[in-house]
Amino acid sequence: MSYKRILLKLSGEQLAGKYDSGIDAELGAWLADEVKKVEAAGVQTVIMVGGGNFARGAQLAGHGIKRVTADQIGMLGTMMNALALNDIFESKGLQTRCLSNIFAEQVAEPFIHRLAEKHLEKGRIVIVAGGIGRPYLTTDTAAVSLALELSCGIVLKATKVDGVFNTDPNLNHDSVKFDVISAEDAVSDQQIRVMDKAALGLALEHKLPIIVFDAMKADNIVKAASGQPTGTLIKPTD
Ligand code: UDP
Repeated sequence: MSYKRILLKLSGEQLAGKYDSGIDAELGAWLADEVKKVEAAGVQTVIMVGGGNFARGAQLAGHGIKRVTADQIGMLGTMMNALALNDIFESKGLQTRCLSNIFAEQVAEPFIHRLAEKHLEKGRIVIVAGGIGRPYLTTDTAAVSLALELSCGIVLKATKVDGVFNTDPNLNHDSVKFDVISAEDAVSDQQIRVMDKAALGLALEHKLPIIVFDAMKADNIVKAASGQPTGTLIKPTD
């Protein structure tokens, strides 16, 4: 079963690809081709981009930089990613619009619910910049909130590893991957740190499923968007 509309969450670290920071445009072009497959499957795509390749508020705050300012800087980082991805996607022939949740009229259209709906109904990819526009949040939580606002059937949360494991697979080669976990366990299990608890809690409350998966493997995004098993499904209770 394909979803009508999905929300793809890409972290800044992923967009940096082979670089330590900034944007790997070559990887962005590869992603555009992967998203084209989703479009060909008749699924609408909303993308929430992170900004960790530029700044993360929690790390930047201190020595005089207020947390609110640090988070604003983080949100501006997401804006840079969104603008770059928008251009890359367009250059690859995908109709794409960048909508911003922070006031930035000179560089992007404002995020307005009806405008986002219109672009999506016209078959355009919508990339959202600025997270949810408020501090003390991350783009994971913004992604779940946006997916609810735009009636996305699922959140596809891209990670470096292909799902949720019982221990960190980068440190422990014997780690076991879960195919499915309940949203309750994802919230309560302190070992599960793949996504913010605020994001998981919001998804649990509104019964929104999440797939944690490796988006950088060919065909994985379209597989997840088409309802085929990929990564780990964080399943809300019926
Ligand atoms: N941020 C924020 N509000 C939001 C989304 C993001 O204040 O709604 C800030 C926050 O400081 C965050 C940074 O922007 O650390 C970059 O986002 P995130 O850390 O989620 O990026 P990722 O880890 O996905 O690259």
